[in-house]
Amino acid sequence: MTSTQEVYDLIIIGGGPGGLTAGIYAKRAALNTVLIDKGLPGGQMNNTAIIENWPGTASITGAELSVAMAQHATSYGLEIKQREVTAIEPGLDHHLVRLDDGEKMRALSLILSAGGSPRKLGVPGEHENYGKGVSFCAVCDGFFFRNKTVVVVGGGDTALEESLYLAKIATKVYLLHRRDRFRGGMILQKRVQAQEKIEILLNTVVRAIKSDDSGVRGVATENLASGEKSELACDGVFVFIGFKPDSSLVPAGTKMNADGYVTTDDKCETCISGIFAVGDLRAKHVKQIITAAADGCTAAQAAARYVESRRGGVAQFEFEFEKGGLVF
Ligand code: NAP
Repeated sequence: MTSTQEVYDLIIIGGGPGGLTAGIYAKRAALNTVLIDKGLPGGQMNNTAIIENWPGTASITGAELSVAMAQHATSYGLEIKQREVTAIEPGLDHHLVRLDDGEKMRALSLILSAGGSPRKLGVPGEHENYGKGVSFCAVCDGFFFRNKTVVVVGGGDTALEESLYLAKIATKVYLLHRRDRFRGGMILQKRVQAQEKIEILLNTVVRAIKSDDSGVRGVATENLASGEKSELACDGVFVFIGFKPDSSLVPAGTKMNADGYVTTDDKCETCISGIFAVGDLRAKHVKQIITAAADGCTAAQAAARYVESRRGGVAQFEFEFEKGGLVF
């Protein structure tokens, strides 16, 4: 169906919760839409063990929620292309999206939903041992540490949640945080403190990751309060120290803040007309699945209005009466 000459109403780049929600709303607004993602739909949700704060669902695995959102979007006919976008070129008439095989796609509006990637410690041994004991994803790699000892680095929600997940698999989890108090939520802090397999080391940083031919063997640590240096034997190191937005595709001239997050107005529109940013790529106070989904909804509705104004027609929002009720 895709011709390189076709001008889509909307191209969504990135299939996390923001992009998939945008896909649902865009298709319901009858926008001719394609979503492009180089990986599995769901984005970072696929790396999350259990999600407990998606309203209406007390507990669901990240993989299950990813599949459910993707199925929801495709049930409205959303086309999902598993390809890599290499460049975005904004234009007055339409915006151009270049793919890795040279294909060019065009659209009146774009939603940038590329998310980001885990921040790295940048210490000796981290890069060299990636995949050999150093990991940024407990769901992906926790399995390899059954009955072993692991170190988790970080003090946010991710480090706390993933420590709890790893404690179900490993014999021992050392949770190392650089400050004297956690950044993550109190409910998670209490659970971590109550989990006997987790030993918390505060004011502690990793200076190096030690390994031999068979992989990671330990970490060199420093206590920032006392200055004491020591070594901790372990089989794996999980790094959860935050997130770096993937702004590599953000077109030149787009406003971003000092941390590389795209700034938008309250419609999620960037400073370039018809280009929107959602999810973890967008500068905002709270980064959660639900706020990414909310961004996706906002951006798709705004894109529908934008396309309507460009095409001179009427956006076809769906409002169906069913069994006496209004179905959105
Ligand atoms: P985060 O909230 O940014 O926390 C990163 C943690 O890593 C902080 O404790 C930080 O220490 C520490 N850190 C940063 N750089 C470091 C370094 N170079 N060396 C050692 N430690 C370092 O990141 P996150 O935990 O990935 O969470 C990201 C966002 O997703 C947050 O908004 C979070 O609330 C959300 N999230 C929510 C849930 C949930 O609600 N279930 C689950 C996961 C994530 P400092 O505290 O000293 O800065």
